[in-house]
Formats: sequence, C-alpha cells, structure tokens
Amino acid sequence: MTTAFSSLPTLGDTWQKTLQWQPDKSQRALFQKLYKGILQGNQQFNLTRITAPEEFWEKHLWDSLLGIAPWLPTAEPSEIAVPPVQRVIDIGTGGGFPGLPVAIAQPTWQITCLDSTRKKIAFLAELSQSLGLDQVQTAADRAESFGRHPAQRESYDLALIRAVGPVTVCAEYALPLVKVNGVAVLYRGQWTAAEASALGEAAARLGGGDIEVQAATTPLTQGVRHCLYIRKQSSTPVEFPRAPGTPAKQPLG
Ligand code: SAM
Repeated sequence: MTTAFSSLPTLGDTWQKTLQWQPDKSQRALFQKLYKGILQGNQQFNLTRITAPEEFWEKHLWDSLLGIAPWLPTAEPSEIAVPPVQRVIDIGTGGGFPGLPVAIAQPTWQITCLDSTRKKIAFLAELSQSLGLDQVQTAADRAESFGRHPAQRESYDLALIRAVGPVTVCAEYALPLVKVNGVAVLYRGQWTAAEASALGEAAARLGGGDIEVQAATTPLTQGVRHCLYIRKQSSTPVEFPRAPGTPAKQPLG
C-alpha cells in the first residue's frame, strides 16, 4: 500500500516575523522528511495526534523552536542570559519534540532525546539517522534515573521539556541534568500565578535561580504559549531527582 503525504507549508514570512529566523532550503527539506517520517511511524507507534500539515508546522515545528528562540542566530537581544550551548537534552521527547526540530535548526548542538518508552526511542534513533542528524543521540530511560547517572547529571547546557507533566515535576526532571549556569526551558500553554509560586519554591530547592517567563501566541491559530527559562544557580542537592514515580506522585512546591 502506498500512502500519499502532503507538503508542509513554507511560511517563510511567518517564521521571520515571529522568530526573526527562517529555515534555509536544506532545513526546509529536513522538516518535510521529518514530517513524512513521523506520519509513517505514527501508523505503528502512536506518536502524535497532530498530523495535518499546517497543524504540524505550528504545533510541532514552530512551537519546538519557540523555546530556543533566544539562541536562534538572528534573535534580538534577550532578557535571558543566553549561555553558549553544546549539549542539550530533550526530556520526554515522545515523537521527537522539541528535540528533532531543534537539531535541524541548530546543527552544531549535540542533542540527547530521552524518553521512558523504549519503542519510541528505537524509532527516533532510526528516524534521526535516516535524516542524517548525526548529532542526535537517543536514550531510553526515566528522567529520574537519568538525572542520577554520574555521566549525565549536571552535564547539559540546556534541558528542554514539553508536555511531560505539572511544572514542578518538569523542574525536578530537568534541573538535575543542567550544568550550573545552564538553563532549563519548560514549554507551557497557559500560565497561572499559582504555578509561578509553586515553581519558584521548587526551583529554589533544585538549584534553580532566576526564572524568566516569555509569553507568545502561536501564529496560525493564536494559541497561548509560555516558555519558562530557569537559570541553574547552584548544584542540585543529592536527594533530587527523587525515586522514579515520586516526583509525579508528590510534586514539589
Ligand atoms: N515532548 C513530546 C511533545 O511535546 O510532543 C512528547 C510529550 S508526551 C505527552 C510525554 C512523553 O513523556 C511520553 O512520551 C512519555 O513516555 C514521556 N515521559 C513521561 N514521564 C517520563 C519520565 N519520568 N521520564 C522519561 N520520559 C517520560
């Protein structure tokens, strides 16, 4: 059986207006290959419900890059202290978001895509190889275990985490993996004062310092987005992350 694949929209002006960046020709071709690969993988692995071309562009490509906007080559000067980036981890990557679009936009970054579901990770390893994204590594593990691994703990300049759980749980997964002076980027939709207060408390216990909140609106459907940038100020105490399952059952804050 052959399956017909639609093309992604280009939307060069929209990229430019919203993120002051746009993909070049080879990056556009890689986005298209990524889309095709995800649609194929979806038939087996239930990776995403977002499959229509414009929706995929907005909710998977644009949204993934929104979180790293301060690091895009032509970004306007940012209020966020932007450390130089080499090593990045995408925690709970699922179908590869935000990790794979970020790898396409930032070919010099070393990106580890981490997920607890082994079959999704096996699929992502194959997909990233078929896209020629040699700088992508994959790991099948829980964030709570990975964050205690001596070779991984406090070894990343940037941790990205989208749609993995409540904000304080995401902070407990992400901050132990970030180097002092690195940044954890938490991708959120709506953002409330109650969440801000809980996150402030949790982040302080995990070694987090300043938290910068950037609000945005998605360009095609005007959805609400907030990206939280937590700068790591000091080493995470050894008791974090807690045992697998505990952060979600007894969230901090
Ligand atoms: N980040 C992707 C996105 O935004 O499209 C996927 C989000 S999906 C809703 C959540 C993913 O997080 C799932 O693939 C799940 O297996 C993974 N996950 C949940 N808890 C995890 C943990 N403790 N450690 C590693 N991965 C986890």
